[in-house]
Amino acid sequence: MTAETHIPNRFGRFLILALEQSLGTPGFQAVLGRAGLRHLAAYPADNLERGFPVNLIPRLMAALEEMYGVGKGREMAFQTGRACFRLGMPGFGFLIDLADLLFPLLPTRTRARVGLETLAEMLNRFADGDIRVLREGDHLVWVMDSCGVCAGRATTAPCCHLMAGLVQETVQWATGKDSVKVTEVVCAAAGGPRCEMEIELGG
Ligand SMILES: [Zn+2]
Repeated sequence: MTAETHIPNRFGRFLILALEQSLGTPGFQAVLGRAGLRHLAAYPADNLERGFPVNLIPRLMAALEEMYGVGKGREMAFQTGRACFRLGMPGFGFLIDLADLLFPLLPTRTRARVGLETLAEMLNRFADGDIRVLREGDHLVWVMDSCGVCAGRATTAPCCHLMAGLVQETVQWATGKDSVKVTEVVCAAAGGPRCEMEIELGG
């Protein structure tokens, strides 16, 4: 993924709708204004054309933190990531069918892994990601060698809460467990060589 990458309009649309859902309309409009992206209030088109520049995402994340403060802004980004999954899920009917069929037969950890690998494959295919899902000891790790959420940013602590929320909601859905915890342990914006999230299933 490079700064010039464009992702499908539909992905941008889910992100914008999720942001509005998480912030409420006045907050949403204020963040768009702050980011200089007021035109997004008209929502990106609902199609798979690659028309949404990936570099708008870090701009929106920075504007969120400027508006609400770093802590609250990142919490909002996390909630927005979770909402992205809930909005996007119905569009992936095949995955729901697969899950209904297979998941009851699989152990929790395998379900988590299948959910994560499916999400990674989708982002890699449609958004030129290079995401890998690894197993380390008793947890799973989500590894992004290049990350569209924080590209171009410089922060003192990991800041890819949007992706952490999306990952958490995916694993929660795949496992049916609400004890899932996602922690970004390495972040490119905070000086790391890549972005990495640890997923603990808990319970
Ligand atoms: Zn990142």
